[in-house]
Amino acid sequence: MTDSHDHAFSTRMSHAGRAGVRIHGFVNPGVHRGSTVLFPTAEARRDGAAKRYEQYMTYGTQGGPTHYALEDVICEIEGGTRCTIVGTGLAAVTLPLMAYLKSGDHCLMPDSVYGPGRNVANTLLKGWGIETTFYDPCVDEAGMAALIRDNTKVVYTESPGSHTFEIQDIPAIARAAHARGCKVLMDNTWGIHTFQPFQHGVDVSIQALTKYVGGHSDILLGSVTVNSEEDHLIVRAAASTIGHYASPDDVWLALRGVRTMAVRLKTQEAASIEVAKWLEAQPQVAKVMHPALPSHPQHALFQRDFNGGCSLFGVVLDAKYSQEDMFRFINALKLYGIGASWGGYESLALPTTGFITRTAGTGDFGGQMLRIHIGLEDVKDLIADLQQGLKQLG
Ligand SMILES: *Cc1c(COP(=O)(O)O)cnc(C)c1O
Repeated sequence: MTDSHDHAFSTRMSHAGRAGVRIHGFVNPGVHRGSTVLFPTAEARRDGAAKRYEQYMTYGTQGGPTHYALEDVICEIEGGTRCTIVGTGLAAVTLPLMAYLKSGDHCLMPDSVYGPGRNVANTLLKGWGIETTFYDPCVDEAGMAALIRDNTKVVYTESPGSHTFEIQDIPAIARAAHARGCKVLMDNTWGIHTFQPFQHGVDVSIQALTKYVGGHSDILLGSVTVNSEEDHLIVRAAASTIGHYASPDDVWLALRGVRTMAVRLKTQEAASIEVAKWLEAQPQVAKVMHPALPSHPQHALFQRDFNGGCSLFGVVLDAKYSQEDMFRFINALKLYGIGASWGGYESLALPTTGFITRTAGTGDFGGQMLRIHIGLEDVKDLIADLQQGLKQLG
């Protein structure tokens, strides 16, 4: 077993998280369920409390061996030092916002942020006296510097953006943020294994493990990963204060999912590029938003900062089509489920026009928009299905 970063991603995914857990010779860690942790003596209990944020079991809510194995795997994937597992991806979004912001602070969020993240800013954070400004995700360093106020504490990022797939210049944004003492949070779900957040200036990386790590559309799970002890204590203490927890059964399924993630992603990414290129050539399609395509407006940034992509992208239909037309197209598809979550083995098609919000002037998409997730079906079948669906549009 190895923790070495010298090995290829697929090698590391076969070995990460298996050391340091008492697994009695079995290949995989077991599912450790539990609330109470028993101590041999009263003194051991007293002394153990100080180590509760250090993968040291004191009570079920501090996690156990199954959680710690997944924490180690996520650190291995993202290149961080410490990870906290929480019950959903959305909990991973809200936890660091609650940990780093207090009443009177200001937060910056990209206009393309995952919708429920916008919702928490506009509801709970607002109610607690925390103001949020939504900014153009394509902002440059000077533009970000101009947005930062004396009370700005968090610069939130998500690259590519939810549904519209803008690639953010994370190193430039991080330089501007750090110059004013702000923390840089990033939702790195799309870039799970291809974007190394801590090498690009991110302080706190958020993952919806629900997506490619789970990989089978059967669990909800999130992670918050950091690269310093200081940030770990802030995040872990907040998680403990609020009472975050994840079921060890779900954590175990994530550990199972991650072992095959490298091969799944390789296949799904390649198929998604093939499908995206095919769609781009169809007369009914105005635009395909896939960062790995040369036609993507921030393709150069993508090539600079990412080691590859994944299998989720956006499509804009020709402006002459109505929402009813788009619905007819989607309803005609036989191999694409109509649903929100992604990263599983199955393909999806989701209408997005009318279901997403943009408030910083980045909302003119030029036609009906949908989001496609490519699963593990054969790419020829997937293209043939889209072809018969597009025929519905004439
Ligand atoms: C799905 C998703 C989340 C939330 O994950 P859940 O586990 O569904 O709560 C957060 N961010 C992004 C980018 C997502 O796609």
